[in-house]
Amino acid sequence: MKSNVTFLILMLLSVLPIFGVPYEQSEEYTRKQAILNERAEQFKAETDFIGEISFNHQYTMFSSMMGNFRDIEITVPQDTLIMKKIFDQVFTRLKPYIPASEGQLLCMGITRNMFGIYVSYKQLVNGYPVFGAGSLKISYYSRVKQFSIVNSTVHIQDVSVKPKLTIDDALKIYSENVLNDEILILFQNREAKFKLSYCNINEYKVDTEPIYRLCWVGGLASKLVIDAVSGEIYVYDNVSMHDLAVNIGGTALLQSDNIGNLNASNEVFNNTIVYAFCDELEIYRYSNDQGNVFFHGELISNVKAYLQSSKFTFFDGSITPESPQFTKNLTDELDPLIMFDYYDYIGNPSNQYYHSVKYLDWLSNNGVTDTLLYPELDIATGCEMLSSGQYYPLGSLIKISRESGMLSSPICHEMTHTLVYHTLGENFFSPFPPNSQFQMLFGGMDEAFSIYYPCAYRDNSSFRFPELSYDLSNTINVISILNMKWITSLGQNPGIFKV
Ligand SMILES: [Zn+2]
Repeated sequence: MKSNVTFLILMLLSVLPIFGVPYEQSEEYTRKQAILNERAEQFKAETDFIGEISFNHQYTMFSSMMGNFRDIEITVPQDTLIMKKIFDQVFTRLKPYIPASEGQLLCMGITRNMFGIYVSYKQLVNGYPVFGAGSLKISYYSRVKQFSIVNSTVHIQDVSVKPKLTIDDALKIYSENVLNDEILILFQNREAKFKLSYCNINEYKVDTEPIYRLCWVGGLASKLVIDAVSGEIYVYDNVSMHDLAVNIGGTALLQSDNIGNLNASNEVFNNTIVYAFCDELEIYRYSNDQGNVFFHGELISNVKAYLQSSKFTFFDGSITPESPQFTKNLTDELDPLIMFDYYDYIGNPSNQYYHSVKYLDWLSNNGVTDTLLYPELDIATGCEMLSSGQYYPLGSLIKISRESGMLSSPICHEMTHTLVYHTLGENFFSPFPPNSQFQMLFGGMDEAFSIYYPCAYRDNSSFRFPELSYDLSNTINVISILNMKWITSLGQNPGIFKV
């Protein structure tokens, strides 16, 4: 019995040092948290900041902030010049709280993305970048009206260090130490790559203070971090990235306009935008023809798809006046699939989105337009309106009624008006301002294009509205609509279709 107890104690003693206390429960963590909390309070008091602040404990610094400054009001986020001045103000307030010295930060300029506008800085020490860190990004998100600040700059003293090792030395060390590089074995035309940068030689030790050295960092299947002065190897690691492939799709109705069949099928969405954080860096990609998006990184999180292609941004027109963008998060990484289906929303945006992307592909593949020349459009679906759809050329906006959600004809119809308007240099066939004579002569041609192309896209002669459909088979063979002369003669039968 006694020996059992002794054995158990010995077991516990031998286990404890292996697992240890989690860093978050260590004294060191508590000590740093107290320092950081105090610094956060001081920052808020000095800069009028209200919002959330997150920290990086290894570096004892803030890593991100989300919120506002009480005395900074943004009225025109679309004005780049004004935003630049505001970003400068925010930068001045941040300076005392970021570890990089001011002379090390190089402004990379102001950029816009779908969320808002941001300015970014890159940290250079003696002209060398910081590996895996060294950036500061100040963003303003118009929709939520908040600043986001992400900081990964680090403290490195401006002491001039001259590398003694050349890149050839680094490559030699690599080939001497990494004997069976699997990529080199598979692909003979590839080679290891190295670059000089400041590197934290305690990179993987969260509870150890970072130490920066100028190193040759690189490799191929393996990663080496080699001191550029002493030649010491600090890190020798296998580089297997935790990639994530996400498939994007949604439900669509392929036969509703043709024969009135309302069965939805699952379709992949190509050219659809997906955002994710890859190792804390927010990036976006477009899905390929199979609906797949690939993200590379050690840690991939916050994967989110939008009903947005390179040309179309879909908004929920059933929620007015906010009209938020349609978006969906990836909820299960083991089943990396994001599906938009029509049960979740009013006006079946999934179906509308599928057809808008496919229709533009079809127009492009048939030489009617070049996708690149087609304008970017905002499309609001699920709208409460009398007509089935409406195109607003000056705002580059299409509205689609909630009743038209199950069909493709109305959205393709408005997209064709868009095509004509841009092809004719911001004109319709019917000249502006409208009058009854012009309408008689030319209005029919606008509608003829917009009625016939959506039918040709489906290779079917019925153009369908929620309440009624036109069967065009008696009028013409739909394939021949690609013949422009015929369309011109149709224009002389004006006023048949008013949409
Ligand atoms: Zn129309």
